[in-house]
Amino acid sequence: MTRETRRFSATRLVHAGRGADAEGGRPVNPSVVRLSTVLFDSVAQMRDLHRRRDSERLLTYGARGNPTAYALEDLVTELEGGYRTHLFPTGLAAIAQVFLAYLRPGDHVIIADSVYEPVRQLCHAVLDRYGILYDFLAGDGSGLDELIRPETRLLYLECPGSFAYELCDLPALAARARAHGILVAADNTWGAGGLYRPLGLGADVSIVAATKYLSGHSDVVMGAVTTNETAWPALHAFSDATGTAVSPDDAYLVLRGARSLAARLPMHRAGALAVAEWLSGHPRVAEVLCPALPQHPGHALWKRDFHGTNGLLSFRLRDGGDAAAVRVVDGLRLFGLGASWGGFESLVTLADLGRLRTVACWPEPRLLIRLHIGLESPADLIADLDQALGA
Ligand SMILES: *Cc1c(COP(=O)(O)O)cnc(C)c1O
Repeated sequence: MTRETRRFSATRLVHAGRGADAEGGRPVNPSVVRLSTVLFDSVAQMRDLHRRRDSERLLTYGARGNPTAYALEDLVTELEGGYRTHLFPTGLAAIAQVFLAYLRPGDHVIIADSVYEPVRQLCHAVLDRYGILYDFLAGDGSGLDELIRPETRLLYLECPGSFAYELCDLPALAARARAHGILVAADNTWGAGGLYRPLGLGADVSIVAATKYLSGHSDVVMGAVTTNETAWPALHAFSDATGTAVSPDDAYLVLRGARSLAARLPMHRAGALAVAEWLSGHPRVAEVLCPALPQHPGHALWKRDFHGTNGLLSFRLRDGGDAAAVRVVDGLRLFGLGASWGGFESLVTLADLGRLRTVACWPEPRLLIRLHIGLESPADLIADLDQALGA
């Protein structure tokens, strides 16, 4: 597959997932179709649809999807370059369903050390309980061969990793996994909307927290899982068996947000790069982490496999320990203090890499300040950082 065919299209963001044609004139946006019960004309029709619904996307009951969600599924499928997409109530629920759909007791999964933190909680709360074994792989993907066992069924990656943006060579790891019959899933929340397309690079499953950039407005939570054709039946069967569906209202919000993603991302990116450059020159800053910076350890891979960067960056202070980082964060006025990212507003949070990594050993100080650069004027954000760092 060429790089060009893997490239995301701003045009498709606007034109995909517009819903089915009806007779007469039609609205620009798909309708919000609220439903539980679906009515059939005859027993024969009902039986026919029930027979076919495991392999085809057919409207039969609200817990199995709705037309508004179908439109969003189609949009995400195109963005990710996959076969089909299933939507889940949150990004974390999407990750949990991937683990449970593809793993059974006794199986082994290899998980990136740089993973979104709640996945570790998921390991303890769910995988331990169901007798599913797991090991963590260095965020740069090194040492995979030593972790593979006969029971390994799934390689679960996140590229770039949360908070420090570790990069791994997904095509190379996927080729190794494939040689052992291991399925590859990647959390693509960072790259959603076209910055990265794991399915085109060898992954079988791509997960996106639509909560972040796709929705873009910090007013809805949702997860999406897109797979290739081979991986689809297991996910589809498990999702239907467990009754996971999203509300049409939430699907509508994400669709509405996604339409402007191609306009928002360059602003997030420009702001993040301006802030990164300014922070890099600040005497109190030891290190700025962002894969678009040439000094980032994953920069070469980022240049090879990605189509740009987003509004995320992290930095470490030179000294003053945790208390100094806390003072800087508490001193910020324009940056909201809170979890998540991808909305129109700038956010800050703290991440203790000593606790969030179990393979990598981070140098002191391990506390990172993670910024999400929103759509505000970068000069105002820099002035805010300047006063907080100067205080
Ligand atoms: C936020 C996030 C998730 C989870 O999404 P929610 O909708 O908040 O559950 C998963 N992966 C990554 C990388 C995230 O940043």
